Amino acid sequence: MRITRVALTLFEVAVPAVSYAAGMAARGGRTDLGLLRLVAEGGLEGHGFLGSTLRPASQDAEALMQGLAPLLLGADALGREALHRRLFAACRAFGLRPLGTVDVALWDLLGKRAGLPLWRLLGGCRDAVPAYASGTRHASPEAYAAEAAAAVARGYRAYKLHPPGTPEADIACAEAVRAAVGPGVTLMLDASFAYSVGDAVRVGRALERLGFAWLEDPLPEYDIAGTALLRRKLDIPILATELPLAGLGAFAPWAAEGATDMLRGDAALKGGLTVMLKAAHLAEAFGLSFEVHHGGNALHNLAGLHLAQAIPNARFFEVLLPEDSHGQGVLAPLRIDAAGLLRAPDSPGLGAVLDEALIASGRTVELG
Ligand SMILES: [Mg+2]
Repeated sequence: MRITRVALTLFEVAVPAVSYAAGMAARGGRTDLGLLRLVAEGGLEGHGFLGSTLRPASQDAEALMQGLAPLLLGADALGREALHRRLFAACRAFGLRPLGTVDVALWDLLGKRAGLPLWRLLGGCRDAVPAYASGTRHASPEAYAAEAAAAVARGYRAYKLHPPGTPEADIACAEAVRAAVGPGVTLMLDASFAYSVGDAVRVGRALERLGFAWLEDPLPEYDIAGTALLRRKLDIPILATELPLAGLGAFAPWAAEGATDMLRGDAALKGGLTVMLKAAHLAEAFGLSFEVHHGGNALHNLAGLHLAQAIPNARFFEVLLPEDSHGQGVLAPLRIDAAGLLRAPDSPGLGAVLDEALIASGRTVELG
């Protein structure tokens, strides 16, 4: 199934005025996403989105269209492993984000060709996954408590804080959230790489007392030895490996060193669904879960949800708040059901319904 046309359309979307970590500005305003269309002989199309509300597609558009598109044109869309190796090598010079988009589009194409939703094609483990609301950064414990309580009122059974970023404040916010939602709601805290080992032990002990499910990214993304030490000191599960932007091999030392209880990634940061699927299986071999990171755009999130439903070792699916900002570009954004579960569409491939009117307002670059 040869690829006959590669087209990227950049279209405008709104940026929510929120932050998720200390040092991250709350921007607001407008940015662009990109729709990648891989058209195969016979007319089937595979789709992927480039960019997020934090990272404009236009920053990676040239790398995709000049660096990767020439390798895709005429290539066999069903030969994903061979293509992935060539594209990964080409990405060394400019980063993995364009590869994530291409890889998701190739899987979408395969699913459509097979007539199956991706979650069935990738493993078909379960038809729904528990979601957690992944909150924004606030100035006060009261604001976190209010955000968590509102998420629970909307049907979420789990909530994750992105706290202010210092141990004292973070513990106070975690206490306020637990008091607000009661003992029945699953809670997590994402430290966004901000702590020393000493800070992480203090916060981790507090979270254990509060019955939190995990402590995420306590130390910098390169500190495998420090995180392994921390994991031996604490009882609360540690979730690491969201960063760096890297392929499958970067997960190996974390698993081998016993430095984390869960591996993590999304299509943009790790080189697509191909790498996420392999990392999930690697995690399973080490008795670890693979927790899908929010993908930053609606199609990456759909890809991640299909993966989470395909495998046995994903506990939750992350829904970054505000929900609507990550549904831009599709007509049927993901919504939790009354039990707090998410379901990927059962139509072939990603099962996305594109917002063609919005996308048509953009500008297109193409090859083929
Ligand atoms: Mg995180």
